[in-house]
Amino acid sequence: MDYELSEVQAEIRDLAYQTAIREFKPVRERCDAEEEFPWDAVRRAAKSDIAGAYLPEAYGGLGGGIVELVLVAEQFARVCSGIGLAFGASGLGTLPILLLGSAEQRERWLPDLASSKKLAAFSITEAGAGSDATAMRCLAKRDGDHYVLDGSKCFVSNGSVAEIYVVFATTNPSRGARGVSVFIVEKGTPGFGFGKKERKMGIRANPTYELVFQNCRIPKANLLYKEGYGLFTAQTTFDFSRPGVAAQALGIAQGALDETLAYIRQRKQFGRPVTSFQAISHMMADCAVQIEMSRALLYATAKAMDKAMRPVYEKALADRAIVYDVMNKMDVKRWTKESAMCKLSCSDVAMKVTTDCVQMCGGIGYMRDFPLEKFMRDAKITQIYEGTNQIQRNEIAMMMIKELAS
Ligand SMILES: Cc1cc2nc3c(=O)[nH]c(=O)nc-3n(C[C@H](O)[C@H](O)[C@H](O)COP(=O)(O)OP(=O)(O)OC[C@H]3O[C@@H](n4cnc5c(N)ncnc54)[C@H](O)[C@@H]3O)c2cc1C
Repeated sequence: MDYELSEVQAEIRDLAYQTAIREFKPVRERCDAEEEFPWDAVRRAAKSDIAGAYLPEAYGGLGGGIVELVLVAEQFARVCSGIGLAFGASGLGTLPILLLGSAEQRERWLPDLASSKKLAAFSITEAGAGSDATAMRCLAKRDGDHYVLDGSKCFVSNGSVAEIYVVFATTNPSRGARGVSVFIVEKGTPGFGFGKKERKMGIRANPTYELVFQNCRIPKANLLYKEGYGLFTAQTTFDFSRPGVAAQALGIAQGALDETLAYIRQRKQFGRPVTSFQAISHMMADCAVQIEMSRALLYATAKAMDKAMRPVYEKALADRAIVYDVMNKMDVKRWTKESAMCKLSCSDVAMKVTTDCVQMCGGIGYMRDFPLEKFMRDAKITQIYEGTNQIQRNEIAMMMIKELAS
């Protein structure tokens, strides 16, 4: 399908795929089996300079947008979503700084993130606060020019390997949802450490950690946006980051279909290629249709977002203003519904397609020597993180009801 990508966008897409084949493919099986983060592969992939393509040139990006973010995430995940997540999770930690950071905060942190010299992480989840982030207990108490963080967060992707952590904590527990604030915490800050490393079903090359804060003093300058605006920050970030998870899911589905087609077109049973059985050829067709339908929704959403956001970034950068404030002033549309639709559609397709791909390959598809079972395990997380697909459905329906009322 021709999605009318610009020449540069097509180059970024192709370079992302070549980079993933060169750097991720040789180590993906070992890193998955040993739950190892491949620093060398990640550093070499970072040199291609495409992971930060979605960031403004002023901060070392390529001046792209969500289209570029999606293209890179898709191609990385087409080869290995576990290794590609180093950049995806870093994007999730970078977006709140881009969208809600002051000009000084953007200048301070974005250049190292754009070049992937440093990786970021995003930490909202707690043991008792998953889908319901308002139940969070991690406390940030104001003390002069500092905030003092106490508590723990869990399930943090890029945990321990990231240098910059965007951490949600409550500055006013009595205000519930409106008491949550967001802080940038740098690795090495006294009182900030890592707890349990999770053992996982999939995306095993990416470390998922507990974060522990004990009397951890954070300068006031590290507060993102304003006190009490934490959940606005999270929602605004998710509006822009969920297309990235969608792209990860789409890449997993495409990668699984690539591997499947390469195998089944030469596999013979009953003296015939298995692709000549209608049961198999119809599954192939269904997988291809689902992937293309989801890709069409995702690319259309990403393009519409970029078109609306280009003047916002230009104005925010020229005026040294906060992007979120400029979005509000310019009355830019919210993308909550569309980005949730992309994440929901692409991740459900990834789970269905990877499961069907294992089926089309038969026994070999189930074996760990063959990459398919890993694609199937990796697909599952895309239905869970950045809001489960039940939460995406809730948000889509909520936005539909709002639209009907307006
Ligand atoms: C590998 C991995 C990596 C992760 N990385 C990060 C990260 O980098 N940063 C971070 O902050 N978090 C991260 N998470 C956390 C992830 O976002 C949460 O696990 C997810 O949001 C779900 O929360 P929960 O696990 O507490 O499930 P729960 O909220 O306990 O949900 C349990 C079930 O109830 C359903 N449910 C809950 N509420 C509703 C409702 N209102 N309506 C309908 N159904 C509902 C859910 O859909 C789910 O099926 C990660 C998780 C995993 C597994």
